Amino acid sequence: MSTLKRALFVDRDGTLIVEPQPTLQVDTLEQLELLPGVVRNLYFIRQHLDFELVMVSNQDALGTEAYPQSHFDTVQEKLLTLLGNEGITFDAIYIDKSREEDHAPTRKPGTAMLKAYMDGSYDLAGSYVIGDRATDVRLAQNLGCRAILLNSDKNLLSCHGLSLPEGSVQVDSWDQACEWLFAGERRASVHRVSKETNVFVELDLDGQPVRVAPDSAEKASGCHIDTGLKFFDHMLEQIGRHSGMALTIVTRGDLQVDEHHTIEDTAIALGEALRQALGSKRGIERYGFCLPMDDSLCSLALDFGGRAWLVWDVKFQREYVGDVPTEMFLHFFKSLSDAAQMNLNIKAEGDNDHHRAEAIFKALARALKMAVRRDIYHYELPSTKGLL
Ligand SMILES: [Mg+2]
Repeated sequence: MSTLKRALFVDRDGTLIVEPQPTLQVDTLEQLELLPGVVRNLYFIRQHLDFELVMVSNQDALGTEAYPQSHFDTVQEKLLTLLGNEGITFDAIYIDKSREEDHAPTRKPGTAMLKAYMDGSYDLAGSYVIGDRATDVRLAQNLGCRAILLNSDKNLLSCHGLSLPEGSVQVDSWDQACEWLFAGERRASVHRVSKETNVFVELDLDGQPVRVAPDSAEKASGCHIDTGLKFFDHMLEQIGRHSGMALTIVTRGDLQVDEHHTIEDTAIALGEALRQALGSKRGIERYGFCLPMDDSLCSLALDFGGRAWLVWDVKFQREYVGDVPTEMFLHFFKSLSDAAQMNLNIKAEGDNDHHRAEAIFKALARALKMAVRRDIYHYELPSTKGLL
């Protein structure tokens, strides 16, 4: 275990407090407003994690007529008092007062104010910058630490020609940021190769970008599916699109024989990836349940209880839907249940086989979304047995 200290470098405007438009400058107490979840989550971080809290902020032209020091001090003192009263104190505070055109080395993403953290006494690879702008991500890169980008604009970094450093994350809220810091990422990568198939599955339960292909550094958020079977791709995309996960599945199977191995081995690899990504299962909901969709009545319940079981009460009328034999759906869910060690109970009725199949996959996605939801405030194993 490293004895080095770790730091959480926290941006101020747009991260701790709301940045008022269009001035981007908080001059008065009336303008002072905390971002949602700041107090609750910083308190949690203070209580449960060993980060030193370091505020790092650019305050353009502070101390000039356009931005008097007294205006800043009034707001800053109130902010520190508000947080301090809730048990949240900063170990250090660094404010740069230059303008962008000054190109000062102290101005984020410059690190000249932060030399004390770069002398070897800090575990920078295990430290984080949290902020709302691309410059905060650049600061993380320049320090050699990780970034938590608190911004819901998923195109923000690509607009600046940036990508997140390894071990970093983009989040919409302080709740997500805190969960990431405390409980870590939930992703898995499975590359399963046999004489019949070559299957690559990468998933992130919390929707962070995953690789688009094996041996590729290229990342895609959302869903990337390619199995060679169009209808099967369409079904797997339901899982990716409706579960909130990021999911990549690339399968090259012996389709010249038939569809069997491609579908079966994809299910095994997906189940294995789910099991790996869930890890300890601490804090998860464990159960998921979903009901009707469109003209098809489908109920799908699942339990990540650690034991595989499948109840399958579904009948198809056609031999094929698209390029997928309908008998393979049972096989897919049996293999998935076995590999993920989950209990699946699936019932579906209706007249249209396409709709029925799609309803089952959508229901699976929604049930997964419920079951993998994690709560760090109730971070126990959801089992009276103490084992899942
Ligand atoms: Mg900011």
